[in-house]
Amino acid sequence: MKKLALHWQILIGMVLGVVFGIVMSKFSFGAELINDWIRPLGKIFINLLKLIAIPLIIASLLKGISDLKDISKFSQIGGRTIVLYMISTVIAISIGLTVVNIVQPGNSIGQETLDRLASENSAAAGAKVTAAQAQGETGPLQFIVDMVPDNIFAAASSNGSMLQVIFFIVFFGISMLLIEEKARMPVKAFFDSVNDIILKMVDLIMLLAPYAVFALLAALMVEAPDGDILVALAWYAVSVIIGLACMLGIYITVVALYTKKSPSFFLKGISPAQLLAFSTSSSAATLPVTMERVEEHLGVEKEVTSFVCPVGATINMDGTSLYQAVAAVFICQALNFDLTFGDQLTIILTATLASIGSAAVPGAGMVMLVIVLEAVGLPAEYLAIGLALVFAVDRPLDMLRTTINVSGDATVAMVVGKSIGKLGEPKAQNWDDHLENV
Ligand code: ASP
Repeated sequence: MKKLALHWQILIGMVLGVVFGIVMSKFSFGAELINDWIRPLGKIFINLLKLIAIPLIIASLLKGISDLKDISKFSQIGGRTIVLYMISTVIAISIGLTVVNIVQPGNSIGQETLDRLASENSAAAGAKVTAAQAQGETGPLQFIVDMVPDNIFAAASSNGSMLQVIFFIVFFGISMLLIEEKARMPVKAFFDSVNDIILKMVDLIMLLAPYAVFALLAALMVEAPDGDILVALAWYAVSVIIGLACMLGIYITVVALYTKKSPSFFLKGISPAQLLAFSTSSSAATLPVTMERVEEHLGVEKEVTSFVCPVGATINMDGTSLYQAVAAVFICQALNFDLTFGDQLTIILTATLASIGSAAVPGAGMVMLVIVLEAVGLPAEYLAIGLALVFAVDRPLDMLRTTINVSGDATVAMVVGKSIGKLGEPKAQNWDDHLENV
């Protein structure tokens, strides 16, 4: 019997998880049952993905660089990637600003709703403000300083230090190319083999994906906010969703026009990564799957994927930056804080930097939102109220913006691949071919 494609398996898992979660939340024992017996599966799955993220980056980036015939290719990949990431982020923020200025979601929030949301979510919002302030107390070049580790083992022991690991591996890989071929061969052969093994680990972990998304979504359903709040924030959520949908449209169009690959090819190839991004709200956890899909299903060669995807997961967050723009303007509208045109330009600048600085984990975008709000001069006493306002719908929007973050990385990988002749036919035609040896 023909096996169902992976994205369908994951989608079915998601739908069943939502239904199961909703049904269980009707019973008094439901939440406890899900928390004790279902939620751990989702957590184990996310841990497994994070577990292989750093080894995967090391092995695949080393293989990618050492396969290069000359180093100048690498600087081409690096330069184009960074430029495209910047351009896509600025486009995303501009779309967000346009939508929020047209829809004006903040003007439909009454004082009563404002007070209620502020009081219900004040503790959680206060925690985000504190986290942002800790992050904000650094100089403008700090992020470059942070990229250079002083101890590679310390860097490799934290998933939050991916850029540091990338820095070390690029340095190591380039040095490797500069020594004699005979001398570098044993190291290359070792890491090529590690790379194959880790890719097989991704395949094996993905066998769990349909069940894991069931667990993740069922667990989310038992903690969903109440319906009234969702209605009050509906226009704000709709603005973010319209913006994110436009971004997806742009990716599909760019891929179709520039790489001549059809929308269905792109979406079919990347959809398992998108669905996982949606279910986990973390581009870091999704990274192993994004890399595997972009390489084996979208046909981008390893030299490109192994650099573009991990760098993208850490610094390129189109969905997050778009959300920050919409949320910042929405909060200012709701609190009657007028924004000038100059303020909106400030939002473009700070949201670009904030999305680079956002960690690729659930809720990180909200922490950096504080920095955007501070930049436009929202008084400190309003910050916590502002965050409390958007808090209730943050998780569903986080799921959507993470999906866009991952799609943006895949798009840039395809464009960079095409531009240097490293986009070919995908190796895996379907999931069954891919798992034939499992
Ligand atoms: N959850 C997002 C990600 O991992 C970051 C954010 O917007 O909060 O990509």
